[in-house]
Amino acid sequence: MNFVEKESQHFFHTYKRIPLDIDRGEGVYLITKDGTRYLDLFAGIAVNALGYNHPAVIAAIMEQVQKYIHVSNFFYQEPQLALADRLIAASGFSKVFLTNSGTEALEGSLKLARKWGRSSGKTTIFGLTGSFHGRTFGSLSITGREKYRDGYDPFLPNTYILKFNDIDDLTQNINERTLAVVLEFIQGEGGINLVSREYIDLLARLREQFDFLIIADEIQSGIGRTGKFFGFHHFGLTPDIVVVAKALGGGLPLGAILGTEKLDNVFTPGSHGTTFGGNPVACAAGLATLQEILDHGAMKNAESTGEYLKRRLVELMGQYPELIQEVRGLGLMLGVQMKFDANQLAEDLRESKVLVNVTENTVLRFVPALILSKKEADTGVEALRTGLDRHLSAARRHQQSSIHI
Ligand code: PLP
Repeated sequence: MNFVEKESQHFFHTYKRIPLDIDRGEGVYLITKDGTRYLDLFAGIAVNALGYNHPAVIAAIMEQVQKYIHVSNFFYQEPQLALADRLIAASGFSKVFLTNSGTEALEGSLKLARKWGRSSGKTTIFGLTGSFHGRTFGSLSITGREKYRDGYDPFLPNTYILKFNDIDDLTQNINERTLAVVLEFIQGEGGINLVSREYIDLLARLREQFDFLIIADEIQSGIGRTGKFFGFHHFGLTPDIVVVAKALGGGLPLGAILGTEKLDNVFTPGSHGTTFGGNPVACAAGLATLQEILDHGAMKNAESTGEYLKRRLVELMGQYPELIQEVRGLGLMLGVQMKFDANQLAEDLRESKVLVNVTENTVLRFVPALILSKKEADTGVEALRTGLDRHLSAARRHQQSSIHI
């Protein structure tokens, strides 16, 4: 049995895996067992912000592993405290709760919101169309995409989906019973969609009027990926709660809920918790990651290489207007909206030894390591050009053969 057959035999069939037998990672490259090097432009789905094998992350993990791997949240743990210090200083938020994953952070944020709104009778929670917040029931209840919800209802009561960037839908549905609006300022899985300035301004005004919570899901866009620490920093609105994960743990499972002062005393001892959340090894890796991102230039690089990559992709759009509809995104969170199903294109890129992810079938999503160089960005763009040429020749061949028939 080869690795593909073994996977198919042993696992529930939840993942459409890429058939590469991975041996190791090096910087922004993934290397298979036969020694082929692939430029990885989706970095473990926006997790590996510093690429693979970053020496600072490895050193932090090794040091902590020698001390203790787990002691439980009954104990004060230096790696947790150091990470919280840095996270709070970098974010300006007041309190933190550490989790194992994105969806767990989202679930916790919904619980935090529920408790906060209890005394004032606020119960309604809104998500937006096109969003993705995770696979557990609370997250799914506010995820606005049928593909993920199909077959899993009923969802949490008092949860509703509003239309993304639809001013009227927002105005008509927000009122004094509104508890929270959960949103990705830049939707990742949904195809790199940016919330509009007009929508954000209205959301801010409505919050002022009705006193509800804005929960920003920065699980994909946070921790420097967009060239700023959080995606919402581009929009001039401070949410009440932020959830982060993915890049936070430097590749180890780690997420966080951050809240503003008004939420300081909502959780009380025993009212929320986790066995593994805030694992000390993950926290040590996370602190090293934050230091590299904030102090050693990775976030700045995300901004400059991101601008460069976007410019090059826009140039490509100018050269292939019949194939590319739009280039969207900020920093190193970019989407190329194709005018055709892009799954074959991603396979063609893989032939050119470049890995990109496709979302919503027609969007090529670029979420590479934040340390990507301009030269590596060029390699990605040229592979895309080769793929587009191949797509055009295939389309021409198809057209000619149908003329002959
Ligand atoms: N929210 C967003 C914006 C995400 O992109 C994801 C994962 O892709 C999640 C939530 C869920 O995170 P996790 O898979 O760690 O539960």
